[in-house]
Amino acid sequence: MQDRTGPSGVYRYEGSPARPIFGSLLRGAALKCPACGTGAMFRRYLKVAHACPHCGEELHHHRADDAPPYFTIVIVGHVVVSLVLAVEMAYRPPLWLHAALWLPLTVILTLLILPSVKGALIALQWALRMHGFDPEAEEDMVPSFDADLGQGSPRPPRLDFRP
Ligand SMILES: [Zn+2]
Repeated sequence: MQDRTGPSGVYRYEGSPARPIFGSLLRGAALKCPACGTGAMFRRYLKVAHACPHCGEELHHHRADDAPPYFTIVIVGHVVVSLVLAVEMAYRPPLWLHAALWLPLTVILTLLILPSVKGALIALQWALRMHGFDPEAEEDMVPSFDADLGQGSPRPPRLDFRP
């Protein structure tokens, strides 16, 4: 059973090694495996590796979904809107100059931090043992096709959608 987080921010389970939340977040933000901090978390720009190439920790359990874009929008929006307002108040530049400055900056910032945000969120899921990142949990597991079949019980018919 779990003990929840203690004052150290470490998520502990009895019988399992602790997974520090903050350290995992930093490793994920650095695009590294949250378990070892050495292997690459991504095999392409936003494509998460099936498992860490260094320590073998399975990374395919993640369910980042659309949380990384959401947090990226929040971060980039606060940065860019603050800069837009500051520059407008200080210099009152023409609108074309605003567009020429902020549109490329928004795109570049978004593309730069999106992998780090996704890495940090996946590392957080790993540290909290969510979505199959807990090797002892039975939930989130996909049972194999033959898991519940005893000897001699009839095999259920397979669905065949071929014409
Ligand atoms: Zn690793």
